[in-house]
Amino acid sequence: PEATPVRPTADLPKAGAFEKISAVSNPKIKHIRALQMRKYRAETGLFIAEGVKLAADALKAGWPVDTLVLALGAMEHPFTARVAATARARGATIIEANAPVMEKVSRRENPQTVVGVFKQRIAGLDAVAKHPGLWVGLEAVRDPGNLGTVIRTADALGAAGVLLVGETTDPFGLEAVRATMGSFFHVPLARASVDAFLAWRPSFRGAVVGTHLSGTNDIRTADFGEPALLMMGNEQAGLSDAVATVCDALVKIPMAGEADSLNLAISTGIALFELRRNRLTL
Ligand code: SAM
Repeated sequence: PEATPVRPTADLPKAGAFEKISAVSNPKIKHIRALQMRKYRAETGLFIAEGVKLAADALKAGWPVDTLVLALGAMEHPFTARVAATARARGATIIEANAPVMEKVSRRENPQTVVGVFKQRIAGLDAVAKHPGLWVGLEAVRDPGNLGTVIRTADALGAAGVLLVGETTDPFGLEAVRATMGSFFHVPLARASVDAFLAWRPSFRGAVVGTHLSGTNDIRTADFGEPALLMMGNEQAGLSDAVATVCDALVKIPMAGEADSLNLAISTGIALFELRRNRLTL
């Protein structure tokens, strides 16, 4: 038999560059700072995540890392040094920055010691069949904290992925990514317009379960099996009529007291837990 060819070293990722930056006017720093704007993120296909934990999560998930900016002295911590070495071996640029540059990059007075720049990755509707299970659909989610919390909750409760439907807050925004606490890199994320979602819906072989304040099914008695899609509505308007109409059932979380509704992320957590309670173990 023929010997297995040795992989030429040219196929391996080239180790990234290392540089020190101490001028806040450096164009690379301006570029990273500009990633705080949604438009620039969309143009470049990049986004920022702060903190060594998120960088480690990204590497663990095999997520493409573009650049890591490290505070002076950060590499004295063995964990941070390992994260930086792994990122560099996978081709990321490592920048060592002084305190003013770190503050500029993170827009905070007490910045994290690691600021990462990552490549955006988001799938289309085909991801739902590719990752079977219970998906969470968010229609027109506005609040980045809610979105990040839902991604974190989806990760913790074993959902298959999060699908963004319609015009939503940017999932790659700093606040949304921060609220995921690292789950961002572990949960498949997809997006579609409302029209594309409505056109795709008949091809989905699971149940689409809408949560609605006028739902007549108690979430505690809901049992739809998997695959399924749990649809959550916008913070102000709830689910649109167009989306509610294509749901197989509208479920409600019973409430006591005077509150009109539950917060979006809280209700997602309750609904996900109810739908997955028999699949979760300690
Ligand atoms: N005024 C909006 C309405 O009439 O739907 C309230 C929206 S609520 C803040 C945001 C989303 O959280 C809802 O669209 C629904 O998906 C979910 N939600 C909140 N409370 C709920 C409940 N008691 N039962 C089911 N879903 C709920």
